[in-house]
Amino acid sequence: MDVNLVLRSTRVITPEGTRPASIAVSGGTIAAVLPYDAEVPAGARLEDVGDDVVLPGLVDTHVHVNDPGRTEWEGFWTATRAAAAGGITTLLDMPLNSLPPTTTVEHLRVKQEVARSKAHIDVGFWGGALPDNVKDLRPLHDAGVFGFKCFLSPSGVEEFPELDQEQLANSLAEISGFDGLMIVHAEDPHHLAAAPQRSGGAYADFLASRPRDAENTAIENLINQARRLNARVHVLHLSSADALPAIAAAKAEGVKVTVESCPHFLTLTAEEIPDGATEFKCCPPIREASNQDALWQGLADGTIDCIVSDHSPSTADLKTPDFASAWGGISSLQLGLPAIWTEARRRGHSLEDVVRWMSEGPARLAGLTRKGAIEAGRDADFAVLAPDATFTVDPADLQHRNRITAYAGKTLSGVVTSTWLRGERIADRGTLAEPSGRLLERNN
Ligand SMILES: [Zn+2]
Repeated sequence: MDVNLVLRSTRVITPEGTRPASIAVSGGTIAAVLPYDAEVPAGARLEDVGDDVVLPGLVDTHVHVNDPGRTEWEGFWTATRAAAAGGITTLLDMPLNSLPPTTTVEHLRVKQEVARSKAHIDVGFWGGALPDNVKDLRPLHDAGVFGFKCFLSPSGVEEFPELDQEQLANSLAEISGFDGLMIVHAEDPHHLAAAPQRSGGAYADFLASRPRDAENTAIENLINQARRLNARVHVLHLSSADALPAIAAAKAEGVKVTVESCPHFLTLTAEEIPDGATEFKCCPPIREASNQDALWQGLADGTIDCIVSDHSPSTADLKTPDFASAWGGISSLQLGLPAIWTEARRRGHSLEDVVRWMSEGPARLAGLTRKGAIEAGRDADFAVLAPDATFTVDPADLQHRNRITAYAGKTLSGVVTSTWLRGERIADRGTLAEPSGRLLERNN
C-alpha cells in the first residue's frame, strides 16, 4: 500500500462520528483513517487543514447541465466548476433540457462524449422515461444510467413529454423487471389545471397556481403504483410537507420509496420573495415558513432521505418578471452546502446530519458505493469546510454560467476552503484545477 497523501484535521467526519484523524490516501482511494498523530509514511505528502472540518465530498444527484443543446443556459465546464467550488465531488445529470435528452443509448453516448473533457468532478447520468421509449429503458440501464426520470405534468420542454398513469405503470413494470429506479417529478396535472392561473409578478399568484394538493395527490398515486408493481421510486424535489405522512407510512409498510428536498425549500420562504423576483421561481414552488418547518421535521425523523440542488439555470432573458412565463429553475449548485449548514445549525443540527443528507444519502440513492463516506476503500473525495466563517453571496463569485441566484446578498455560514477528488485538490478557495473528473456508470 503506497500512501502518497495524508490529509489531517482535528475534525474529520466519519461514519462513526467526528474525530481528529489523519486520512491516508493511496492511488486516489482512502487507504485508512488513522489516528491524528499517526506517523506520515515515507514518500507521502502531509496536508494539515488545522481545525477546518473534513467532510466526504458531496454527492448531488439532481443537476441540469443542459449540455449539449442549451449550453447558453449551462454546460459541463461551468456546472462542474461551480460544483467543485461548492464542495461537490460527484453529480448526476438530469436527462432533460439538453438536446438530445438522455432517452436512448445513442443520446447517452453523445452526452458522455461532450462531458468527458469538461468534467471537473465525477459525472454520471440519469436516463429519461417518455411515453414512447419503454423499449429504450433496458438498454439505457445496461449502458450504465443510474435510473430514469419522468414527469407526471408538463416538463417545460416539448421534447420531454410527461407520462400519464397508464404510461407510468408501463414504464415502472419494465424497470422493476431489472430492479431499476424511477425518479419522479410528482405534480398532478389535473390539480394544476384546476388551480387559478394568473400571470404577472405577484408571487402569491404563482404559489396558488402550484398548490400542495398537486404534489400530495401525485405522490399518493406514485406510492400506490410502486406498491402494486413492487417498483423502486424516488420523489424528486419535495416541497409540500403535507405529503410526508403518506411517504412515512409507505416506507414503514415496505414500499420502496425515497424522497429528496432541496436547499431552496429548506432555506427560503414564500413570505420573503419579492414580487417579480423570478430567480426564486421553481416547480414545485418555494412555500410558506410553516411548510419549511415541517420539511425540517421530515429530515430530522428520516422521512426525507437527502438534500440535492435541483440546479436548473437558464439565461437571464428567460427570467422575465412575470412568474407565469418565466423559466422555472433555481441556480444554487455552489451554495447548497453553506445554505443548508447555515439553516441546519440554527435549528440545532450538526454537520454530521448535513453529511448524512448531502453526501451519504444521495450516494446511497444512486448506489455509489465508493462515494459518500470517509472510510477505507472509498474514493478520496473530500470537502474541507471552515464552518464558522461567514460570507455574503456575491453573484460575481459564482462559477455557473449565468450568475443568477436566489441567494444574492445573503450572509451564509460555512466557507469551502478546498475540495479533493480522488486525492487531488481540485478547488482551493475559488481557484479551480484543470478537469480531472471521470464519467461514472451504475455499478450494480
Ligand atoms: Zn430538476
